[in-house]
Amino acid sequence: MQFDLRTLFVVFVILYACLGLVCLLLPYRMPGSRAMTHWGYALLALAAGGGGLALRGMIPDFVSIILANALVLVSLILALRSVRQGRGQGADAFGWSVVGASMLLLSYFTYLQPDMQIRIVIVSAAIAILLVRPVSALIAAAPGASRRARIFTAACLGGIGVGLLTRAILTAEWGWGANLFASGSLQFASYLLFGVLTVLATLGVVWIEIENLQADLERLAMIDQLTGTLNRRAFMLEYERELSRCMREKTGLALAIFDVDHFKGVNDSHGHLVGDQVLRRVVDTLRASLRGHEVLGRYGGEEFALLIPGADSVAATLAAERARLAVGGRPIQEGQLSIPITISAGVAAYGINGTDWESLLRSADAALYGAKHGGRNRVVVAPAAPAASTQSKVPLPGE
Ligand code: GH3
Ligand code: MG
Ligand code: MG
Repeated sequence: MQFDLRTLFVVFVILYACLGLVCLLLPYRMPGSRAMTHWGYALLALAAGGGGLALRGMIPDFVSIILANALVLVSLILALRSVRQGRGQGADAFGWSVVGASMLLLSYFTYLQPDMQIRIVIVSAAIAILLVRPVSALIAAAPGASRRARIFTAACLGGIGVGLLTRAILTAEWGWGANLFASGSLQFASYLLFGVLTVLATLGVVWIEIENLQADLERLAMIDQLTGTLNRRAFMLEYERELSRCMREKTGLALAIFDVDHFKGVNDSHGHLVGDQVLRRVVDTLRASLRGHEVLGRYGGEEFALLIPGADSVAATLAAERARLAVGGRPIQEGQLSIPITISAGVAAYGINGTDWESLLRSADAALYGAKHGGRNRVVVAPAAPAASTQSKVPLPGE
């Protein structure tokens, strides 16, 4: 069977150009994403370089050898930018020096001592070297995309690198493939493999991008925008999870509801922007006072819910006291302002105050009401019997 390698080359060049354009058009609704854009430019550079190579003998050597190969190598720098997603910023300098060195060598073996075989070895080796970083960036753990998507893409790029390295060794040792378009099944198979792997790598990048986007959306849907803590929906999901664990393992589970004291006064005196900032600081302090397994969420305006897995009323009171003391211990510094903030809390425990969310919340709310009426800046535990409530107040330093 006879294959026209130049035609195959041209087909892939057209395919890269089309895929490159799609990659540039795709992210218009993903403003945070640069990966697709960089990959799109990489494919266009590859298409332009491949086009130059395909026209070997029909256009000046400078364009079809030096410029075309430079574009192919630059496409790998862009590919690295695409997959590293903000990590390893210094990698470009290495890439550019590989491109620069390859161009010098290519010029030497084009004009001073023309040798196609050595040029193929140089370019194949340079591509393989430049592929190492994108492959390792993909393999390195990254938030968002699944390991499967990253390994798939890394395997496609790695396959190109290994293939080209093999080609470089075969060319250097036995002169195999020294003519770009000399027909032969092996030559055809290698071009087909590189083309298919590039297309698959593009699909891999799209796959990664979709997963990253999905992870971003999931995170956004879970996080309270102002304070960065869990929103009510995410908190409820955590509650469901902890509740089933509590029932399965027969451990305790407690809920504390915090409310910032006299917060209207903060807004009235300093404005809502300062009020927002105070809420952020309160959450920072609450978070810092938490133990690893405790879950904090924003339940309402300036009300926060704390889930304390494994805790009974006593342990939950201690956790809430820790949080209360942390917030009240030091005034919040906001610019020139020093704003003293205290919080009150109501605590309810699974089993003692009910076995469903409504009973727990109602009890914690009632206890919080008690804390407010008791003078604020305190933790109140919901009583097992509706009649009595236990007040607990650990004095603040200087109180
Ligand atoms: P209390 O001690 O009884 O809790 O008094 P309070 O003034 O804190 O009263 P309350 O809890 O009812 O007030 C909540 C206030 O919190 C009312 C609302 O304007 C303010 N608030 C709620 N959400 C936000 C927010 O996201 N930003 C700001 N700046 N203020 C908020
Ligand atoms: Mg409130
Ligand atoms: Mg309040």
